[in-house]
Amino acid sequence: MSVIYQQVALIGLGLIASSMAHAMRRAGVAGEITGYARSPETRATAREIGLCDRVCESAAEAATGADLVVLCVPVGAMGEVAAEIGPVLEPGATVSDVGSVKRAVIEAVAPHLPEGVHFVPAHPLAGTEHSGPRAGFAELFDNRWCLIVPQPGSDRAAIARLEAFWQALGANTEEMEAEHHDLVLAVTSHAPHLIAYTMVGVADDLGRVTDSEVIKYSAAGFRDFTRIAASDPTMWRDVFLNNKEATLEILGRFTEELFALQRAIRTGDGDHLHAYFTRTRAIRRGIIEAGQDVDAPDFGRIRKG
Ligand code: NAP
Repeated sequence: MSVIYQQVALIGLGLIASSMAHAMRRAGVAGEITGYARSPETRATAREIGLCDRVCESAAEAATGADLVVLCVPVGAMGEVAAEIGPVLEPGATVSDVGSVKRAVIEAVAPHLPEGVHFVPAHPLAGTEHSGPRAGFAELFDNRWCLIVPQPGSDRAAIARLEAFWQALGANTEEMEAEHHDLVLAVTSHAPHLIAYTMVGVADDLGRVTDSEVIKYSAAGFRDFTRIAASDPTMWRDVFLNNKEATLEILGRFTEELFALQRAIRTGDGDHLHAYFTRTRAIRRGIIEAGQDVDAPDFGRIRKG
């Protein structure tokens, strides 16, 4: 694969940025990778594991001379980082981000970018519950979607170049409008995370079931909730604060459906429950057919004994 960008600057060196660095190396698409993270500890770790060609002491230093700058910080920190790098960006450079929310990030970042810089927001739909510079791996984006959110007047060549970059990192790309992105993600990711956080919190609060029982007998359902609920608290706080409307709309609908199921259980309406679960089972089949998960029992976990 040939080089797509001469210098890619990664601002924030957590799970997503470190996975991008590994995937860029695997594909050979970046001439040089520069990087910056806020804490000296993260920068030291990044240097120790050779994550970037150069780990810099400021976001502005990392972005200087870059033809692609990717903001990989929590959604609530995007604006301040953009303000810091704005003055050093060169005309013709592309600024992108990987934030899980798009409308709020666009509003926070766009005002800081100078004329002649292409702003092409993006969101790779891939992640794990781990964070930090050691969490990344080259395969994270393989066969996952990366949604590209072009802005009015965005340069088509800059968009095509960023799409080619993400495809080289293993992802499939699709363009989407910001508000629609935020609604889709509220359904597929943000509301499910909140529900997982709640369920794990409920189990923790339940005095009649001891903590050790919850841990000992956690079968697949609860175990999967605990995995999701172990996700980074800063990242997820920022997601909810910045995708308020769409998340609240989905949670409103969720509550209505939950009440309907609650009522069906109370009144013994087995037909309602059966019909509902039949419909949801078909959705799981659709996800597997689309190649977005495996059909192995228990998500393909290796069973002991
Ligand atoms: P992460 O592993 O927690 O890493 C976040 C990085 O941002 C850390 O290196 C942190 O530095 C740095 N940072 C935080 N505030 C900063 C600031 N003000 N200035 C400079 N650096 C700062 O997070 P992640 O999972 O990679 O997520 C990064 C972004 O990707 C978020 O916007 C998230 O919404 C999005 N995203 C996440 C996932 C996922 O599943 N994890 C999936 C898709 C998209 P320190 O280590 O020094 O604190």
